[in-house]
Amino acid sequence: MNTTIDIQIKQTSQSKLPGTNFENLSFGQVMSDHMFVADYKNGEWQNFSIEPYAPLALNPANATLHYGQSVFEGLKAYKNENDEVLIFRADANQRRLNESAERMCIPPVPEEIFMEGLAKLLEVDRNWIPSNPGCSLYIRPFIFATDDYLGIRPSLTYKFMIFTCPVGHYYAKPVSVKVETKYTRAAEGGTGQAKAAGNYAGSLYPAQIAQKQGYDQLLWTDGKSHENIEESGTMNVMFIIEDTLITAPTSKGTILKGITRDSVLTLAKEKGLKVDERFLKVSELKEALETGKLQEAFGTGTAATIAHIYKINVGDTDFELPEKPKDAFSYQVLETLDAIKYGRIEDQHGWITK
Ligand code: PMP
Repeated sequence: MNTTIDIQIKQTSQSKLPGTNFENLSFGQVMSDHMFVADYKNGEWQNFSIEPYAPLALNPANATLHYGQSVFEGLKAYKNENDEVLIFRADANQRRLNESAERMCIPPVPEEIFMEGLAKLLEVDRNWIPSNPGCSLYIRPFIFATDDYLGIRPSLTYKFMIFTCPVGHYYAKPVSVKVETKYTRAAEGGTGQAKAAGNYAGSLYPAQIAQKQGYDQLLWTDGKSHENIEESGTMNVMFIIEDTLITAPTSKGTILKGITRDSVLTLAKEKGLKVDERFLKVSELKEALETGKLQEAFGTGTAATIAHIYKINVGDTDFELPEKPKDAFSYQVLETLDAIKYGRIEDQHGWITK
């Protein structure tokens, strides 16, 4: 592949491939052999390289370690039957990375650096992309501040990096969730819409409490009234109540604009399902659970694609969702998305880059 940016490539002499068991991949534990690195200094991105995956040397005063000026992305590459590499909606991730960066005073990464760096990295680490069913290559682009300075101001230097890891199914099993009405993930005017490191650090404690109580994930509610359902864990969340798909709008800036969310909504509208982008109230959810009107509830995100929800805790009550029929929307849409991602059906939306 020819690139418009000059990428120095230094390949590893000790590939980890022979020692990697592709039959038993857990999420995010085994990293592929190489990483893409770019530096930002003197007002521009420079020094593009692909190097062996290795630890970084950081000064203890590194701004990211203290103030978290850092943003990231997550996307996936797949192999089709002809062993071609397909990347799902990388352009959308590139745009979102820069939207997150803007909120965190981080300079944007131009499209060609993101796309060419990624394409070259996948070319070098092609053999890390699993071809076994349900598996894929998770791609983690990120930008972080590199100034060694203890004052609080936007850093003047940054690194943009991409590394990858082969992964199996993320949430193979359906999940249980708890409506969280004490803690909050994001507030209006805050940073919820950015894929910024600190959002995830702040969500760990409430999630840990829920896990100790026996739930897999939280259903986050808004920070003001705790009456409106926003997201689930690190996924967007959708409910089907009486034939209408309801999901929170992204207009308030408190919700990550999920790319899976957008893909599912596009397919839902094409399948003729009524879509209502509005906040579902906790009281409405409870009523729908009590009366059996809630047909489906699921999270959407890159890692899991669709995470079916089988149990929801509201207040003191655990509600089990009814068994879903085989033709339930969430199964159908998962199948369609998988078929697009693995190149089994035609990509009519321009979502795949080969
Ligand atoms: N919300 C949050 C907070 C997330 O971290 C993610 C994962 N990126 C999502 C939603 C889902 O986004 P996507 O479909 O783009 O992976």
